Amino acid sequence: MTPAPTLASFRRIVVKVGSSLLVDRAKGALKRDWLAALIEDIAALHKRGADVIVVSSGAIALGRTLLALPKGPLKLEDSQAAAAIGQIGLARAWSETLSAHGMVAGQILLTLGDTEERRRYLNARATLGRLMTLRAVPVVNENDTVATSEIRYGDNDRLAARVATMASADLLILLSDIEGFYTAPPQDDPAATLIPVVERITPQIEAMAGGAGSELSRGGMRTKIEAGRIATTSGTHMVIADGRVAHPIRRIAEGAPCTWFLTPSNPVAARKIWITGSLEPKGAVIVDAGAAAALKRGKSLLPAGVRAVEGRFARGDCVVIRDGAGAELGRGLVAYDAADAVRIIGRRSSDIERLLGAPGRAVMVHRDDMTLAGD
Ligand code: GLU
Repeated sequence: MTPAPTLASFRRIVVKVGSSLLVDRAKGALKRDWLAALIEDIAALHKRGADVIVVSSGAIALGRTLLALPKGPLKLEDSQAAAAIGQIGLARAWSETLSAHGMVAGQILLTLGDTEERRRYLNARATLGRLMTLRAVPVVNENDTVATSEIRYGDNDRLAARVATMASADLLILLSDIEGFYTAPPQDDPAATLIPVVERITPQIEAMAGGAGSELSRGGMRTKIEAGRIATTSGTHMVIADGRVAHPIRRIAEGAPCTWFLTPSNPVAARKIWITGSLEPKGAVIVDAGAAAALKRGKSLLPAGVRAVEGRFARGDCVVIRDGAGAELGRGLVAYDAADAVRIIGRRSSDIERLLGAPGRAVMVHRDDMTLAGD
């Protein structure tokens, strides 16, 4: 089996902290001692030159406690209100604790659109990059106050994975209320054992993930596996570790039980990283056998090889590339709106100007804007 990587080898690290680690529901307050110890670990990484990004949950948990809202699932407007209230205290706690170790925090609140729409993605990526150049520590959460139930991550596991890929981080640490990934949910199966290294997320691994999480934290193992998929297909290693102890990051370095999800050694280029992780393709292009073979040889997708298009995508959107049998060959950024694409499919690129009345790109999806399954 491939050995687990060493923590000291990573240069840009995203640390995701779950709500149940940070918020003591019984006392209705943040666990400040625990946070102070975690920040010592973060300071050690930062001091040796690593960039650190924090993705912190806890706004809703803290806000609902301050508002004394009843237990159980919250109505959308109540979780939005709870987030508005809790986020202030959460950000203050991070900022104060980081500054006690000479680090400056910068708050970034993201919505699903900020990570999935190209223009906004590029903005968020640039801001994260600038903060890190300035040696600040970005503290990220979902903007739950404006997120609606259909348009939100809802769990910070996947958000953290997208932030990690967006920032081209080489490691994502998910601090959780469990030691790692088990062969079965340990609360249901006493024979379950911890898997130290997952080299690939196979259907078998997915089947082991089980159901949802606790009341306080939204993410169960399922969202962690999804996070692992986003991270590892984009060149980012991920580790799930027990956050319930003091100094959880130091303990990973000391060999505490945890689960590593490894990424193949050749990380894809940043643009491809984003395309692969894009959660919401806006449509599909169906290609013929000749085009499918050409894609595998590293060619761009030409209009001549496209048989049909599906969906109402706009130029620059992500589309799924499928073969005639419906199998996904890859994903890419499409060079035409759906309406124009329909008019040029099956035609030679030299006919595009005549067909559309204006010169356009010769390709439907450029090779550099594409990622193939198995890339
Ligand atoms: N963004 C949510 C919050 O800050 C947490 C989601 C999660 O628990 O993963 O309260």
